[in-house]
Order: sequence, then structure tokens, then C-alpha cells
Amino acid sequence: MTGSTAAPFTADDYRARMERAVREAADAGLAGLLVAPGPDLAWLTGYAPPAATERLTLLVLVADRDPVLVVPALEAPDAAHAAGASAVTLRDWTDGKDPYALTAGLLGVSGRFGISDNAWAMHLLGLQSALPGTSYASLTEALPMLRAVKDPAELELLAAAGAAADATFEEIRNVRFGGRRECDVARDLAGLLRRFGHSQVDFTIVASGPNGASPHHEAGDRVIARGDMVVLDFGGLKDGYGSDTSRTVHVGEPTGEEREVHDLVREAQEAGFRAVRPGVPCQDVDRAARAVVAGAGYGEYFIHRTGHGIGVTTHEPPYVVEGEEQPLVPGMCFSVEPGVYLPGRFGVRIEDIVTVTEEGGRRLNNTTREMLIVE
Ligand code: ZN
Ligand code: ZN
Ligand code: ZN
Repeated sequence: MTGSTAAPFTADDYRARMERAVREAADAGLAGLLVAPGPDLAWLTGYAPPAATERLTLLVLVADRDPVLVVPALEAPDAAHAAGASAVTLRDWTDGKDPYALTAGLLGVSGRFGISDNAWAMHLLGLQSALPGTSYASLTEALPMLRAVKDPAELELLAAAGAAADATFEEIRNVRFGGRRECDVARDLAGLLRRFGHSQVDFTIVASGPNGASPHHEAGDRVIARGDMVVLDFGGLKDGYGSDTSRTVHVGEPTGEEREVHDLVREAQEAGFRAVRPGVPCQDVDRAARAVVAGAGYGEYFIHRTGHGIGVTTHEPPYVVEGEEQPLVPGMCFSVEPGVYLPGRFGVRIEDIVTVTEEGGRRLNNTTREMLIVE
């Protein structure tokens, strides 16, 4: 992700996030956190430098010390404009100087640190040789739930991203499918997401006929034909927060079996949604959806987890998967997206983003889940 967002967060919000991150790091046995450009840095500070910068940029969070952002001198003016900049001290370094020695001085302790999953290996190696007494852990593995519970402003942004994805579906259902290539419909999807306010399009899956049986088939040259099921799965970032929704449409009249499988997936999606409430382990949502599919004899064709979290990225914890015992907490946001994939024939997936409230789940996608017939 690049560029600044229109996120309505203040320096106080970012300060509170950084304080919580340090607290959670300590609870996880870490001396601090080292945060590279990417989703964690954007969430903690509002600063989103170009991802391709090879010069070390690192937020250093250590207990009982002020947060420090190590930045290349030439990026310092941009960093100073980030929304949370007043909550961090900037320490810039110029080309030719050793940024690892600078960072080592800031850590000032030996110990184990969490480091962003997407930090460059080059930077981690530099830190390791400057600080032989330190060891490192994956930030996401150490603090999987750091960004999982959204505050009300974040929920509003996620709801707005969901509404923009819904508006995209309401338009795409009226375009011609039959006789056009998947990639042509995918281009329509990307254009619509942007038209409805997305600054970044992450995926535009258009999987027709047998391609629908491959869950992550993107969009290719296949010409969509009458009689095809078409899985549509699209999303990206709007104002810094993600959308991700799937609907499966049919070109012309479907067969009885196609209707049956679509109804089954819809019922599984509903069962997963109904399982959402505070305190329920993530895996129970997966189990609820999977039980419906398995009960109808299609269990072996539901070949992925039921869902994933969403926030400043389109895939993040919590994962709705067998073995994930993390209890649901109000404010969490994730997809509920069961599917059935019949090799060589067709696939069906239905996906909504759902947030946890005290009363249960609330959908952030609200287009019809009935199978639509398209032209
Ligand atoms: Zn068909
Ligand atoms: Zn999706
Ligand atoms: Zn998804």
C-alpha cells in the first residue's frame, strides 16, 4: 500500500495503538517491536512510504521509551506529515551512514524483538550483525490479534469499503458475460471498484465454467459461454481499509444440479454467519459452514478455510479455520466464504465480510446471495 489515506485518525489514536502494541509485546515475552513499511506501520502511525524503498525505514517500539521512527533523510519530510508523526520521534540517517548502528543504539538492550513479517531480509541481517545479543520473532506470529479488533472509526471505513464492493456487484450483474473473455469482465470489475472509491484493487477473480473449480483462478482468456457458472471475487482498499466479496452468477438458465450446489453454499454461508457471536472460537464458524456442505455429501469439495480477517489488508488474522481457538470479540471483522469446487465442471463461492457485535454477526456486504442469472 502506498500514499496517504483519508483515515480519520489522530495522533492520539496512533499513540494509543503504539502503547497497546508495546504492552502486548511485553505480554508475549518480547522486549519490543521493529515495524517496517507495510500494513503494521500504516496502522500504527498512518505513515505508508513506498513499499519499494530499500533504505531502512523502521519504527522502534521499546517499553518505557518514546516511539522512534528511523527514516532515510530524504523521506523525513513525508514521514513528518503522517498523521501519527507527532506521536513519534523521527531519527533520520543519510546515505553512506550505517542505519543499523543507529537502530542498535535505540534498542539499547539485548533480547527478543518482534519484527514485521515483510521486513527485508537485508535489514534483519544488518540488525543481527549490529546486535548479536538480539533474536527476532515474526510480529504476526507473536501478536496475531494486534489489529484484529477494529474501533468504531475503522468499522465505518470497512463498512464503506463493503458498500463500494456491493455497488460494484450491482453494476457488474448488468454487464454482458456471454461471449466476452474473463479478463474483460475482470477489467470491468477493477474499473467499477475504482469508480466507487477504491484506491487499490487487490483481486478481480472471474472464474467461468471449469475455471470456477480453482478457488484462486484469476481471470484469463477463456470466453464465457451460455450455461457457465461464473465465480466473481473482488476487492481492494478504499480509504486504507479493505473490501472482499464473492458472488456466483450463471449465464442463462442453470441446471437443477447447479441450483442445488448454489443453494447448498448459500445455506453454508448462512450457517457460518449465524455461528458468529462473542466468545465463540473462530473454528466454530468454520465448523458450522462445513457441516452443511459435508451433510449434503460435498465435504471433499470444500477445499479451503471458511474465512480470513480484513482491515488495512485484505487477508490477515483472525483466520476462520479448524484449530483456531481464538474467541470472537466484538469489533473483529472477517470473511465467511464457503465454496464447493467440482473439478473440471464448475465452482460456487459466496462471501460476505462480517463483523462481530454483542448481538451476533453483522454483514458488511448486503447484495443478494440468491443466484443471479446474467446475460
Ligand atoms: Zn450451467
Ligand atoms: Zn474474496
Ligand atoms: Zn476472502
